[in-house]
Amino acid sequence: MVQGYVNLNTERNKEWLQEYVDNWVTFFKKQTDTGKVADYIPKLEDADPNALGITIIGKHGTQIRSGDLDIPFSIQSISKVLSFIVACMDRGLTYVLHRVDVEPTGEAFNSIMHLEINNPKRPFNPMVNSGAITISSLLNGKTSDQKLEPIFALLEKMIGYRPELDVEVYESERDTSMRNRAIGYYLLEEGYLESDLGVTLETYFKQCSINITTDDLARIGLVLSNDGFHPDTGEVIIPRNVTRIAKSLMLTCGMYDASGKFAAYVGIPAKSGVSGGILAVVPPRVRDNDLPFLDGCGIGVFGPALDKQGNSIAGIKLLRHIANSWDMSLF
Ligand code: GLU
Repeated sequence: MVQGYVNLNTERNKEWLQEYVDNWVTFFKKQTDTGKVADYIPKLEDADPNALGITIIGKHGTQIRSGDLDIPFSIQSISKVLSFIVACMDRGLTYVLHRVDVEPTGEAFNSIMHLEINNPKRPFNPMVNSGAITISSLLNGKTSDQKLEPIFALLEKMIGYRPELDVEVYESERDTSMRNRAIGYYLLEEGYLESDLGVTLETYFKQCSINITTDDLARIGLVLSNDGFHPDTGEVIIPRNVTRIAKSLMLTCGMYDASGKFAAYVGIPAKSGVSGGILAVVPPRVRDNDLPFLDGCGIGVFGPALDKQGNSIAGIKLLRHIANSWDMSLF
């Protein structure tokens, strides 16, 4: 009863919501100049630094889309959420969490330092590179393509089509990523890798190079908001206990070393990537009936100009502004 009323409310205000988001996209787009596109993976430098786009999709299909849309970009670190989910579904939660912890690091995503100081030297969490590379090694299969297959299959179920690999981005990272190789060797020495190092890194670089759009991210967010249930197909595609941990990891470790601030000031699970994407999950909440998307929604943002932590500089501000205005915080 209440849900029906809330949904009608969002529908009734759709035009107003669209105009509201359009205005704020225009406002924050001006701030893209203050950030910088990632260049440590050379191919990422081709992105338009002034692009900014957002898609919001609600449980009953309401969509707000604004700004620079339909620009495919590589998923980068956002893939860490998917590989973690797939590893847990294939290998079991306990097995996976025995090899990768769930503690925030407060350090850069590609730091090696925390591996050195931790005892046992287990990666802190699956959202930093050491944890994600370990997770890539746990995926079933002997070749990188076999390991990636369930990630593609999960994505296809979530977004309705099979996304493509950006081969140029993949080769660009493969040929330059000395730090990830160093992390890989470190993990190999400590006994955390379950697959050949070359195959593991190939899998990791490829999963980061899958092309997606803001619409795709919003659909992924919507499925996570619904605890793994896809509202369009009526299928449970991820077990609830796995989505619960994935969302906790996004909340505590998803926004690089700005995760604490994002949790405090925005309060929703989110994961960003160095190509400028942000996946955000707004769970259903009990609030004033005038608020939009009370049934929960998924949000996808794209803005390649990054801040010092590696988050989309305008994207994070846009997301924060909308989430605060519409009281989307978990708390
Ligand atoms: N492929 C990137 C790397 O490992 C992902 C980084 C990110 O998006 O945070 O450096």
